[in-house]
Amino acid sequence: MLERNRYERLFIGGEWVAPLDGAIVETTDPATGQPWATVAFGGPGDIDRAVAAAREAFEGPWRRMPGWERAVLLRRFADLYERRAGDMAVLESRDTGRPIRETRPDLGAHHRWYHWFASLADKLDGRTIPIDPSVHAYTERRPVGVVGAITPWNAPMLTTAWKVGPALAAGCTVVLKPAEQTPVTAFELARIVEEAGLPPGVLNVVPGLGHSTGAHLVAHPGVDKIAFTGEGRTAQEILRSGAATLKRFSFELGGKSPHIIFEDADFDQAMNAATSSAWVVCGQSCALGSRVLVQRSIYDRVVEAFQRRAARVRVGMPLDEATHMGPQAHAEQLDKTLSYIAIGQAEGATLAAGGRRLDQGQLAGGYFVEPTVFAGVDNRMRIAREEIFGPVASLIPFADEDEAVSIANDTRYGLTAGLWTRDTGRAHRVAGRIDAGMVWVNTYRYIRWSTPYGGVKASGWGRENGVEALDNYLDTRTTIVSTSGQFPDIYAQ
Ligand code: NDP
Repeated sequence: MLERNRYERLFIGGEWVAPLDGAIVETTDPATGQPWATVAFGGPGDIDRAVAAAREAFEGPWRRMPGWERAVLLRRFADLYERRAGDMAVLESRDTGRPIRETRPDLGAHHRWYHWFASLADKLDGRTIPIDPSVHAYTERRPVGVVGAITPWNAPMLTTAWKVGPALAAGCTVVLKPAEQTPVTAFELARIVEEAGLPPGVLNVVPGLGHSTGAHLVAHPGVDKIAFTGEGRTAQEILRSGAATLKRFSFELGGKSPHIIFEDADFDQAMNAATSSAWVVCGQSCALGSRVLVQRSIYDRVVEAFQRRAARVRVGMPLDEATHMGPQAHAEQLDKTLSYIAIGQAEGATLAAGGRRLDQGQLAGGYFVEPTVFAGVDNRMRIAREEIFGPVASLIPFADEDEAVSIANDTRYGLTAGLWTRDTGRAHRVAGRIDAGMVWVNTYRYIRWSTPYGGVKASGWGRENGVEALDNYLDTRTTIVSTSGQFPDIYAQ
């Protein structure tokens, strides 16, 4: 058993092994800027070992196991995960800086994802296709093979559940490469896999650097599919390096989601949603409602409401139960957020609240920043067009429904969108006109295991969650059986 805060072995083929060509590195607690865990990073040789183990497990027990048996193992895993969720939440707070108020309910729900995907493991039905009595044609859904899962640092275990759950239910095996800044909970996940008795090699955990370890996984000819969450530019690199092997890809990329507040909205409910969804995860969420589109008649009231609520946000240490908002997850993200705050001011937006790094007293050394509000934002400004990934809300005025839709869709992204109105007709009309994979009406960030999630345009390919998630990990095989056994001799005459 490994000691707490020391994760110096990779999990490959069901064994804890020292890195072959990687290293032991320190990871940083973003609340203090100090090292807090030592972890094993794998190199290309470790990826080779992990892919071989995943292949063996795929060809051996896992794909051949009846779906209901895979479901039994996944349910055992989900139950253990639920029991560990409290401890895992503390580790995820240390690793990412997210407050325990967020990580506890977040990790406390992940077992539901695993249970739900377990329940699909024996329901991978095919179809029979009627043609004529001379043939019996049917399809089967077969696992694509070995999956490389590459996950980000903002919500490491949630994004992992969205990949590992459906992949294992489908009968695939997985090599997981978590983000270099937040690998710790992935080791804990491996412990649960081990304890649940999943066959060796079904899930392998090899943290490491994206440009070497991650890139080797992507290019590996033994990997059939890459499931990725992260930045669009990285997705482009992944497409290039994976092209030679023509593997499959699914991408969950960024967003610049519009959150539209019409004048007839329930004001207080809309403000609850608009403020929290602009600052949650310290702004580091792909579904962030970062562009708040406000009807002109209520614009000043909304700016005031954002200012008042920004003043109520308690920024502090992640493990303090009172803390609403922790630090940014790493130093580069802090720099990025602060640079966009400067860009917004230079572009002429009005800094209505926040905007500063917080580094006094207990927060010294950590990557804390104030919840920030820009008013008077024009959708052409960079703060309205580019993903900041910090707690920065841009309030953009609009006149009417048409202008709201036009601003909402004037973005390269299309992940999520929200709108608030009491007019049912308008709710459906506007929802139908927005280019996004997920639209919320009179709510926001409502995400569940059973509802498909993913983007259009530059926000990604494919859907995670829902039964649609299985499509990422299954191929359709068609079999046609002649009922007569007769085949004409075309050379007879
Ligand atoms: P990345 O896209 O670089 O990182 C995501 C994952 O990809 C990490 O595991 C990373 O490893 C890995 N990776 C990086 N390069 C490669 C590669 N060439 N081949 C294979 N894997 C690779 O995101 P960043 O961490 O750099 O974040 C930058 C920005 O991306 C954020 O500011 C935000 O705008 C956006 N982002 C969006 C997320 C979302 O949920 N949609 C999540 C995270 C970021 P490593 O950590 O070692 O680099």
